[in-house]
Order: sequence, then structure tokens, then C-alpha cells
Amino acid sequence: MTVNADSRSVAAQATWRNLPAAQQPEYPDAEALRDVIAELETYPPLVFAGECDQLRARMAAVARGEAFLLQGGDCAESFDAVSAEHIRAKLKTLLQMGAVLTYAASVPVVKVGRIAGQYSKPRSKPTETRDGVTLPTYRGDSVNGFDFTEAARVPDPERLKRMYHASASTLNLVRAFTTGGYADLRQVHAWNQDFVKSSPSGQRYEQLAREIDNALNFMRACGTDPEEFKTVEFFASHEALLLDYESALTRVDSRTGQLYDTSAHMVWIGERTRQFDHAHIEFAAKIRNPIGIKLGPTTTAEEALQYIERLDPEREPGRLTFIVRMGADKIRDRLPELVEKVTASGATVAWVTDPMHGNTFEAASGHKTRRFDDVLDEVKGFFEVHKALGTHPGGIHVELTGDDVTECVGGGDEIFVDDLHQRYETACDPRLNRSQSLDLAFLVAEMYRD
Ligand code: PEP
Ligand code: MN
Repeated sequence: MTVNADSRSVAAQATWRNLPAAQQPEYPDAEALRDVIAELETYPPLVFAGECDQLRARMAAVARGEAFLLQGGDCAESFDAVSAEHIRAKLKTLLQMGAVLTYAASVPVVKVGRIAGQYSKPRSKPTETRDGVTLPTYRGDSVNGFDFTEAARVPDPERLKRMYHASASTLNLVRAFTTGGYADLRQVHAWNQDFVKSSPSGQRYEQLAREIDNALNFMRACGTDPEEFKTVEFFASHEALLLDYESALTRVDSRTGQLYDTSAHMVWIGERTRQFDHAHIEFAAKIRNPIGIKLGPTTTAEEALQYIERLDPEREPGRLTFIVRMGADKIRDRLPELVEKVTASGATVAWVTDPMHGNTFEAASGHKTRRFDDVLDEVKGFFEVHKALGTHPGGIHVELTGDDVTECVGGGDEIFVDDLHQRYETACDPRLNRSQSLDLAFLVAEMYRD
């Protein structure tokens, strides 16, 4: 294989390789990994640098208080779920949530999926024990298999190629759905069709869709039918966890000579890999994509300021998003100091709430779950803190699916602990189902308006 100048230049800048990297798989065959990386380096980019710049501009509006981020999707995507049906259902849920937020809160909504690349999971324990058998933990379809067998749990670098292809076909379908007519605002009822009768949130949505319809009809009668209503701008994001993969998809932008991770428009660094002097932050510092960092309850204001210094030295709104995931019982206590000190430093970051990851617990049945009320309470706490400080609650980052799963308890169409076993399908953390997602969107719209 010939190495072109660009890939040499990317490799020279892969300084993260000299630093410790948490949560990386231990591949049994280093040579096989090197071959896969070399192959991935030849693959076409999944997104273009210009699109990443566009999202950075949208995120700048979020950071300045002029727009709201809706970021959502599976905790872990799986290769088996790369089907038109699953992808459409997820997209439909996000489009419905987007319509609710845009209309009910009267704010432009930046839509970003946890999609087309969310295949890698950081884990709190390296092994899992069932019935006296201990095996390596499942780390996402990009690393090993979900099945509880010794063979499935061996990390296989070939899976990185499958991750690329699964991401490519997902993104292709997402682009078709969002620009090919399906996301036309005049379809606002169609997104709800299979849902409305059975669910209180579906009925509430139908009412809002009728109002949107009236507004569209009114505009049309006035002689205006804007192009903006026909397509939706939608971006892809995932956790930049497997640095071999992210690095292999990093390319030099021919326009500017700068590096972009072309595996997604936006990537984030998770709570378990944000060690300041380690590889993930080093990697993030080198790429021009908009970057998110998850901030858990132990984050200090000094750490937040260090991230800004390192990842956003130019103080460029839109570059850096803090995705706060502290837990409903901690956010009101811990967030204010962070927001105050960051604001006082003069930096304009986007503040986003992830109300899922600080509120996970194990039900008596053994299912990992979350209470809808805790999720809601963390969002409320997030809004309260920003209101008190006069800063902008920039958005929500949620784990959701378009399917009628029973993974989180509560919601308007209430799921009880005893229901969890019925449709518990997640490969990792519990997700809001479609009805709970819509409930959340309505409630967030109310908070935003107040
Ligand atoms: C996640 O987003 O699935 C995740 C693992 O989050 P965090 O890094 O915030 O724990
Ligand atoms: Mn998760």
C-alpha cells in the first residue's frame, strides 16, 4: 500500500500514542490490529470537514444562547440494529422531539444523533460474572460480541471495519431520510401515525402537529413556502473512545490543512477517559471537530477551566460543549460553581445536560434502569442553575430509542419496575422509549419557555 503525504502527516500528529489511554481493548494480535488500521486509513471519510465546521457554527449559536441542542440516540448501537426500521424509528423520535421543542419553546433546535458510530462502550468493570463464570466485559460491537461466551468476548480488530461500514450505511440512510422528503415539516403528522392512538404523549403531539399545520397553511396562504421546511439539518456524533479507530479516520482537510476526525461531525470524550494528561484529551486537542466533554459530579471548576485552556485556546464559541451528568441529587449543588467560574473566565462554551448517566440504578429484578422522574429532576436542576446565574441552558443529551422498549421506569404511559423484563433490549444502558422521549421534549419545552 502506498502511503500518501496526508496520511503521513496525520500519523506524525498522532501524539496521543505516547500517552496512557484508558478503556482501550487488549487485542490478542497486534499485527492484525495494525493491518486493520492501515486499511481504515484508506477508506473515504464518513463526513466532510465543512460539515463539521457547519455544526461548530450551529453550536456557537447554542453557546451564545440563540439555539438549543437536542442530542440523542442509543447508549450503544449494535450491528444487528442497522436496519431501515430501527433507524427510521430513532430518527422519527428525534424529529418529533425537535418539532416539539422548536414550536413549543420557539427556539431553533440543533439536531445531533448519537448515531452512525456509537458502537464503543467504556465499562466500569473489566469482567462480568454470571453463574460463577467470569468473562471479559462486553465493550460494544466495535470491540467484542454481546454473547456471554469466551469466544465472543475476545476483542477482534476486524470489528473496527464493521463499525465503519455500519456507520456508513446508517449515515447514508439518515441523509436520505433527512433530505429526501421524509423530514419535510409537512410530514409532521406522518411521523406520529403509528403512535397517536395508543399513547398520551402521541395525542399531545398530534395537537401540536395540528397547530404546526395551521401555521404552515397560513404561511402558504400568504404566499410563502420556505425551502427550510423541506429538509432537516441533522448531524452525527459518538463517543471518541477507540483511539485507533478515530485516529485512522482522521484526515487533513485540503482547504485548511487542519485535522478532522471524519468518523462523525461531533465527538465527545466520556467521563471515564477525560484524564487531563492522557491520550483522549490529547487526541481531541488536535482535531477541529466540535468537541464535547462529559462532566461528572466530581468535576472541579479548575478542571473545567483546564479543558477550556487546552481544547479551546482561541475561546471560539461552538468548539467546546460541556455535557454535564451529575445526577439529580447533585446537580444543584455542583453545577453552579462550574458555570460561574467558566463564565467569569470569559469563555463561551455550550452547557448541555445529560440527565441519564448520573441516575442509573439496579432494580430488584437485576435490570439496570433509570426513573423518568429522576431524569426530569436533573433537567429541572440544570435549568434552575442556569436561570439563577443568568446563563443559557444549552440543550439535552439523552439515551433514547424509537422502539417501545421497557428500560426506564415512569413516564406518562407509565412503565413499572415489574414491566422491565417485557422489552428490555438495550446492549448497554437503559433508554427512554418513544413515549418517554416525547414526554421529556414537552416538559423541556415548558422549562425553556418559563
Ligand atoms: C455514555 O454516554 O454512554 C457514557 C458512558 O457516558 P459517561 O461517559 O457520561 O458515563
Ligand atoms: Mn450510556
